Amino acid sequence: MSRVVIVGAGFGGLGCAWTFANQVSKDAVAKVTVVDSKDWFTIGGTWAYAWCDRVPVMDTKWNLHDAKPQLPGVEMKLNTTVMSIDTEKKTVTLSDAPNDPTPYDYLVLSPGVVGDPSGISGLDQCVDMYSHQHVERQKTDLARIVTNAKADNATRQTLAVVIAATPYKCPVAPFEAAFVADDFLRRNGVRDTVDIVVTAPVPWPLPDPAKEIFTTYLTEKNVTFSPSVKIKNVTREKDDTVVTFEDDSCINAAAVWAVYPQTAPTFIKDAKLTNPMGFVPANIGTNKITNDVAGREFIFCIGDCAGLSANGKPHPKAGEFAWQMGEMVAHDIGKSADYTHSRLGACIAECGGGAGVLVAPDFTACVLDPENGNPKVQVADKREGGEAYKVAWVAKYITKVFGDIGRVFEPSAVA
Ligand SMILES: Cc1cc2nc3c(=O)[nH]c(=O)nc-3n(C[C@H](O)[C@H](O)[C@H](O)COP(=O)(O)OP(=O)(O)OC[C@H]3O[C@@H](n4cnc5c(N)ncnc54)[C@H](O)[C@@H]3O)c2cc1C
Repeated sequence: MSRVVIVGAGFGGLGCAWTFANQVSKDAVAKVTVVDSKDWFTIGGTWAYAWCDRVPVMDTKWNLHDAKPQLPGVEMKLNTTVMSIDTEKKTVTLSDAPNDPTPYDYLVLSPGVVGDPSGISGLDQCVDMYSHQHVERQKTDLARIVTNAKADNATRQTLAVVIAATPYKCPVAPFEAAFVADDFLRRNGVRDTVDIVVTAPVPWPLPDPAKEIFTTYLTEKNVTFSPSVKIKNVTREKDDTVVTFEDDSCINAAAVWAVYPQTAPTFIKDAKLTNPMGFVPANIGTNKITNDVAGREFIFCIGDCAGLSANGKPHPKAGEFAWQMGEMVAHDIGKSADYTHSRLGACIAECGGGAGVLVAPDFTACVLDPENGNPKVQVADKREGGEAYKVAWVAKYITKVFGDIGRVFEPSAVA
């Protein structure tokens, strides 16, 4: 009978806890504890609705105390931070008991990633579009752009969405941000005087089959994509933010929404669990960590923090995949007999006006056969119903985590 500690109650940690609570035999585990430094859950796919003013920002957060009825038998330690891990002694030290480490038989790490702007001078002045704390800033940026565009002495403005490093979570999100902003600015009657630019340090940051559809949307919406440009630094010039790239080209922008370089949180690095890329290397077939540390056979890493690849191709970082990894690990620890794993994601990139692109990567073959399995990706243009698909996707996870008491996510209709 095992004691399991799950670090993080985001998509991965909740997927794991939910599976232990609802699908794994109670005879297999003695105790499951999930620890999170906050007491709320958020779905990144709802944030764009907040910054384009269709829901209050607070409606993108759900109280994790309300998840307890859906997680019978799971101890939830909320507002509690994991300070350190001792892989030899098989303990974690929690902020509420710094002198009394918590023992584990199995440790499931799902702490997500953090944005780290420190390697690029001035990047910290830009919005980190993967931080919930910055959603209000995105909203303010758009409101300011609209106000300035309507002023008597208005000049052209630029909204820049800049990807500082790969890999990063939810690869379609920067394009989604550009398209939703395009829609917002059109509806406010100012799109003609605002340029929207997306930049990436690689030739193309999405799965190749998505290129044709996204390129069509970029053209239709007059969004410029600049590939293969690495950010050198960010400075301020009067009211503009200036992003300078390594080829000395630059963008003067009224607002810059950045994808900061993303890595594992510090306590994971301190435990010497990260690879040079800043992620935790793990086996794609089991999610067991592969570092050379004591007790590694008892440690799993799931979700964004895990560095996983199949045949040299990195496994994309997405909420749906984090949840599925959590399911798989719970069934593994719980020794479920009849479990079949599926690693099929379905992510809608919203394109504004109700349209969306469905990107559905399937890594099931890679999980079942890490040596030889190849991923597949399906992409579908949903000119109508894209937004409805996304809202239904959000509802699916809210219902799983919170049951009937989960607040329904209901963005207001567009004018
Ligand atoms: C704008 C945006 C849009 C997105 N859209 C989509 C989408 O449409 N579809 C999709 O599938 N994915 C989407 N994603 C990606 C998705 O949100 C992530 O891939 C997913 O949240 C990863 O789950 P995780 O469990 O690895 O990490 P997270 O969900 O980030 O959870 C990590 C948890 O660990 C906790 N934690 C961290 N450190 C500690 C510590 N020391 N002690 C205790 N707790 C700790 C954190 O508080 C957090 O709750 C989007 C993300 C963003 C930001």
